[in-house]
Amino acid sequence: MENLKIEKIEVIELNIALKEPISISLGTVYLAENMVIKIHADKGLTGIGEASPEIKIAGETQSAGFEIAKLLATGLKGKDPLAIEDRLRDMDHAIHGNHTIKSAFDMALYDLLAKKAGLPLYQLLGGGNTREIYTDMTVYLGSPERMAAQALEYKNEGFPTIKVKLGTSEKEDIERIRAIRAAIGDEIPMRIDANQGWDTVTAIKILKALEPYNIEHCEEPIPHWNNTHLRRVRDHSPIPIMADESVSDHRDAFRLASMGACDYFNIKFAKSGGIHNAIKINAIAEAAGIRTQVGCMSESRYALTALGHFVAAKNNVVWFDIDSSLSHAEDPVTGGIQYKGKGRWELPEIPGIGGDFDPGFIEKMKKTII
Ligand SMILES: [Mg+2]
Repeated sequence: MENLKIEKIEVIELNIALKEPISISLGTVYLAENMVIKIHADKGLTGIGEASPEIKIAGETQSAGFEIAKLLATGLKGKDPLAIEDRLRDMDHAIHGNHTIKSAFDMALYDLLAKKAGLPLYQLLGGGNTREIYTDMTVYLGSPERMAAQALEYKNEGFPTIKVKLGTSEKEDIERIRAIRAAIGDEIPMRIDANQGWDTVTAIKILKALEPYNIEHCEEPIPHWNNTHLRRVRDHSPIPIMADESVSDHRDAFRLASMGACDYFNIKFAKSGGIHNAIKINAIAEAAGIRTQVGCMSESRYALTALGHFVAAKNNVVWFDIDSSLSHAEDPVTGGIQYKGKGRWELPEIPGIGGDFDPGFIEKMKKTII
């Protein structure tokens, strides 16, 4: 087979305004400060990737990502973009960690491979796009009254599931859930996320107190490094525990599964380093009898499209938290996954990931070409 060669790589910052600031237990986000990577190969093929650095979760920023992307791009130039495993190894040898910026490169490589194959990404991954994809909608931290009003608004908009951010204090968090259930009733599925905000003892107390409120699962109740105590929380909680911040890559997945530390995993490309490692996490989960959710940071519809392809190819992914772009005040994406209302997303049926960025939108962004 004739090999392709990477000719140049565009590194672009992507700033997207939010409808309003977003608060979780770790802090508040005022702007989506993302990164776009475009890998140009010979024969006119271009692969596009996007990543959303979250400083409080992954320890990465847009400005650091921009510099590291230049380093990574320099190491990839002239090499075969279709040999994805080798290119990911090149990046891991170039710099430790930095999974989020690496995930933008990984996504671009998969886009390029799927375009070369002439297949939508989900088909390249062995999927059939036969399942409907419905996202939950997230209620961010605020007063119980405000959160209850927001939850009711989302229920009335037709979202099938409400996700609720918690993680400040026992009194506030229990009051939040009580107020939300009083507003939206007991039937609509609800899931919660403490974003590491509780200590072990408090987590167990709160999860027991929340048992009557029909909650599907709770993400990351305690600090991400405390895997042993996560197991303890799981053992005492009537609500299933989902690892999020504590499961970044496939090695974390193997450790947590081996320890029996959680019931479920939340997979995000920004944590895993991209699609390649997300496949590994999901495979480890499947082998351990752990079902998975996919989640997002503050990605635009472009990275959410890639996530949708992954979902369409992996039946072990059964919960979808794909709502970041619904909090954005502007949409920089052309093509891509289409929002059909009431939480439903529809995947594009063209080769690759199936989207791009509006040239008018990204021309005002900081950019370099390696
Ligand atoms: Mg989470």
